[in-house]
Amino acid sequence: MPAKVLDGARIAAEIRAEVAAEVKALAAAGIRPGLAVILVGHNPASEIYVRGKIKACHEVLINSTQLTPPSATTDELVAMIEDLNRNNNVDGILVQLPLPPQVDAKKVLLAVDPAKDVDGFHPVNVGLLSTQRPGLVPCTPAGCIEILLRSQIPIAGQDAVVVGRSDIVGKPAAMLLLNANATVTVAHSKTRDLPALCRRADILIAAIGRPGFLTRDFVKPGATVIDVGMNKITDPAEFQKFFAGNSKREQSFRSKGSTLIGDVHPEVAEIAGALTPVPGGVGPLTIAMLMFNTLKAAKMRRSGA
Ligand code: NDP
Repeated sequence: MPAKVLDGARIAAEIRAEVAAEVKALAAAGIRPGLAVILVGHNPASEIYVRGKIKACHEVLINSTQLTPPSATTDELVAMIEDLNRNNNVDGILVQLPLPPQVDAKKVLLAVDPAKDVDGFHPVNVGLLSTQRPGLVPCTPAGCIEILLRSQIPIAGQDAVVVGRSDIVGKPAAMLLLNANATVTVAHSKTRDLPALCRRADILIAAIGRPGFLTRDFVKPGATVIDVGMNKITDPAEFQKFFAGNSKREQSFRSKGSTLIGDVHPEVAEIAGALTPVPGGVGPLTIAMLMFNTLKAAKMRRSGA
C-alpha cells in the first residue's frame, strides 16, 4: 500500500488560520504583532522566501517591515538589529540567511534580542529548548513536529532517526523529538552504515540537502518519513532517474525547466507508512511556524515571560 501523504499545505493553512484568529483577538486589545525581515543583497532564492514571509504576514494580519540594505557590514547590521530590539512595535526580527560572505553571520544573529528571535537561532533559545523551557523554537523543525502531532502519529517511545545535524534543522529537530519522549539518534556524514541505522527508525527525518539520497533501502516498511530536503534539479537525466513515468511532474519539468525534490527518493512512497511530499510537505510549515513564533513572541514579551 502506498504511503499516506502528510499534507503540509493543509496543516500550514490550519496553523495560519489559528494564528489569524488570535491576532484578531489581540487587535481588540489594541495589540498588533510586528515582524521585521532583514534581507541583504540580491540572492534570488532569498528574495522568493522573503516575499513568501511578507505575504503570509499580510494574510494573518501581522505587521511586516522589510529592510533591504543592498550591502552592509557586520557592524551596520548589528546597529540595525539593535534599533529593532529597541522598537516596541517589532515583536520578531528575522535575518534572512545566507548573509554575504563579508558578514560575520554568527555575530549578527547574536545581536538579535532572544525575546524577538523568531527563527530560534540565538544560543539563549537553543538553551531554552534543550532544557525544556518556554522559548522560540526554529520554524522548520517545529513544523516537522506539528506535522506528526496533527497527523496523530505517536512520538513518545518511538525510535527516531534524524539524518543531518545542522543548527537550523537537524539538531533542533532531534531535541524536539527527545522532548516529546522519542528515542533519538542523530546521523551525519561520518555515520557508519547509515541505511541499517535508518532502517531502525519508526520516524525518519531527512535534513541532508542531497536529492533523493534516502532510497527504500534506508526505510523500515511502515515508517513515517519527514523529508525536509528542498533540492532543485534541472538536469533531464537526473530528472528521469527520479521521476520517469510521472507524467504530471514531466509536464511541469518541461515547462519550468526544473523541479523540486527532497532528500528522500520517490520510491520510498512504496514502503513508508506516511511521507511528506516535496513540494507541499515541510516547506509550507516553515512559514506558518514563523507566523506562530511572531505571535508567540508578541504574547511572551507583553506577559513578561
Ligand atoms: P546543512 O548543509 O547545514 O546540513 C546538512 C547535514 O546533512 C549535515 O549535518 C551533514 O553532515 C549531513 N549530510 C550531508 N551528506 C550526508 C551523507 N552523505 N550522509 C549523512 N549525512 C549527510 O543543511 P540544512 O540542515 O540547512 O538543510 C538540509 C536540507 O533541508 C536542505 O535540502 C535544505 O534545502 C532543506 N531545508 C528546507 C527547509 C524547508 O523549509 N523545507 C528549511 C531549511 C532547510 P555533516 O554535519 O557531517 O557535514
